Amino acid sequence: MSSEKSTNVVWHQHQIAKADRVKQKGIQRPAVLWFTGLSGSGKSTIANAVEQLLFAKGYHSYLLDGDNVRHGLNKDLNFSDADRVENIRRIGEVSKLFVDAGLLVLTAFISPFRQDRQSVRKLHQDHEFIEVFIDTPLAVCEQRDPKGLYAKARAGEIKHFTGIDSAYEAPSAAEIRVDTANSSVTECAEQIVAYLATNGYL
Ligand code: ADP
Repeated sequence: MSSEKSTNVVWHQHQIAKADRVKQKGIQRPAVLWFTGLSGSGKSTIANAVEQLLFAKGYHSYLLDGDNVRHGLNKDLNFSDADRVENIRRIGEVSKLFVDAGLLVLTAFISPFRQDRQSVRKLHQDHEFIEVFIDTPLAVCEQRDPKGLYAKARAGEIKHFTGIDSAYEAPSAAEIRVDTANSSVTECAEQIVAYLATNGYL
C-alpha cells in the first residue's frame, strides 16, 4: 500500500494500555487463533464451536468470519491474488486491534498463502498468534461442499477457487493441527480449547 498517504500519521499511545485491559479482564491472556484451511474444511464450524465453549466459561472472544468481513470491511476486494493478500492484511490488522482490546480473537479465513500468514504472525507479539491448521483433504472438502462452491468451481463458474485453480499453501509448523476427517466438531473444538488451557491463555 502507498506509504506516502501515511507520512504524517503518528501512533498515539493510549492512556489505558493493553496491559491494563488484560489485567482488568483477569481471566484470560489475549491472542488470535488464526484458522487456515480449504473452503469447507471446517474453519467456521469449529471456530463457532470453540467460541461457544469459551463463552460458556465466561471468556471474552470475538470471531471474524470470512464471508461476514467480505460483506463489509473488505467488500471492495475480489479473489485475485493481490486482493487476497490485501484481504488477509486487513484482517491481520483488525485482529491485532482486538487482541490489543484484550480479547481472544478467532479468524476463519482460507488465508491460502504462507507469506501472508507469516506477515500477520509478525504483526503480533510472540505467543499472541496461534496458527490453527484445519487439515481436511481436498477430496473431503469437495464431498462436503456445504455451499456448493466446488461444484461451481469445477464447472468453471468460479475462477481462482482455492484448491482448484488457485493454490493453497499448507502450514508447515502450525501451533495446532486439527484432523476433521477423523474427529467430530466437538472433539476438534475441545482440542483447541485444551491447547489454550495448557498454554496459559485461559
Ligand atoms: P469453512 O469455514 O472452512 O469454509 P465450513 O465450516 O463452512 O468450512 O464447512 C464445513 C462443513 O463440514 C460443515 O458443513 C460441517 O458441518 C462439516 N463437517 C463435518 N465434519 C466436520 C468436522 N469434524 N469439523 C468441522 N466441520 C465438519
